Amino acid sequence: MRIWMRKRIISVLLIFVMILPYAVVATGTTTTDDLKSAQNKKSSLEKQIEDTKAQVNQLAKDSTDIESYIKSIDLKMAQVDSSINDLNIQIDNKQVQIKENQAALEQAKIESVEQYASMKLRIQYMYEHESESYIEIMLAAKDMGDMLNKAEYINKITDYDREMLVKYAETEQMIQDTQVALQNEQTELEDSMASVEAQKSSMKLVQDAKAVELKKLSEKVSQANANATQLQNDKKKQEAEITAMEATIKAAEAAAKASGGPAMNYDGGKFLWPVPNSHRITSYFGEMEDRSVSHNGLDIGAATSGVSGDKIVAAYDGVVTIAAYSTSAGNWIWINHGDGLYTVYMHNSQMLVAVGAKVTKGQVIALMGNTGNSTGAHLHFGVRVDGVFVNPLGPKYLSN
Ligand SMILES: [Zn+2]
Repeated sequence: MRIWMRKRIISVLLIFVMILPYAVVATGTTTTDDLKSAQNKKSSLEKQIEDTKAQVNQLAKDSTDIESYIKSIDLKMAQVDSSINDLNIQIDNKQVQIKENQAALEQAKIESVEQYASMKLRIQYMYEHESESYIEIMLAAKDMGDMLNKAEYINKITDYDREMLVKYAETEQMIQDTQVALQNEQTELEDSMASVEAQKSSMKLVQDAKAVELKKLSEKVSQANANATQLQNDKKKQEAEITAMEATIKAAEAAAKASGGPAMNYDGGKFLWPVPNSHRITSYFGEMEDRSVSHNGLDIGAATSGVSGDKIVAAYDGVVTIAAYSTSAGNWIWINHGDGLYTVYMHNSQMLVAVGAKVTKGQVIALMGNTGNSTGAHLHFGVRVDGVFVNPLGPKYLSN
């Protein structure tokens, strides 16, 4: 398992490290793999962009639904307002009627009192002047018939007073009854008003709640749009990385050719498990669960779930060709083992080796972390052969 490298190649590679803004270095046949990986990430981003667009459309539809619901409540509230208006007019009319009736009642009382007073006066007058008036009236009669008429007339005067008294009392009672009826009607109208107003305020509550919901939705729409923009930017960045990688590959291939072929040879030896203190596999090679593309490596969880810092060791002897940060892979390390064989270590919290470093099997190269597109401390361990990711648990690599 001896590995050797020509010094000239190292110096050519180091020049690339210094020239490029990120630490990507390739030897011979290899970095076309990185290009494919970058293109895969780009496809994945394009799918995410499509998903986000669909999400924005759905949110916009939800907003429209709520808006039309709020409008329909507006219409109902306008109807309630018109009922309130009608009731107000009816109550006003009722109050006018009550006032008029009140005035009529007062008038009737006055008339009744006056009638009573004048009747008392007439009775008193007749009593005081009975001898003269009664006798005079009788004696002034022309004949017997006239006298009878006059006697009847005198009786009628008292009958008239009695009838008037009864009539006034009845009128007063009738007006009082009307007053009670009118007041009952007013109370009924006021009850209707209270119930319509309660209806209106409960509608207002529903409408306010819907408005809050609409506001939240519009915030979600803005958030989704921001996400879409972010994804578009990520995609552009990814495209720029691909372009840069293409240039790197070309230059590295030319350099390798000039130096006379591949720099290293893989002797076929077995790999070492890359996380000495954890053998907990959290996702296997080829799994599709929660992914848009097939999982191209093996995920190994932290010794203590969620806690970063477990030591990560080189699976085999080799040379570090990438030790950089990427938005998806986080802090990632590529080790070249020669003959087109690479191992990849993603999401590290810390990287302990630099590009160009010669590492030996079992050497600590990084600490486990949760950087890049990762949901919990883990190592994503990848094995690439001739530009294709293969199952790290396959024969020759990690299997027994
Ligand atoms: Zn993974």
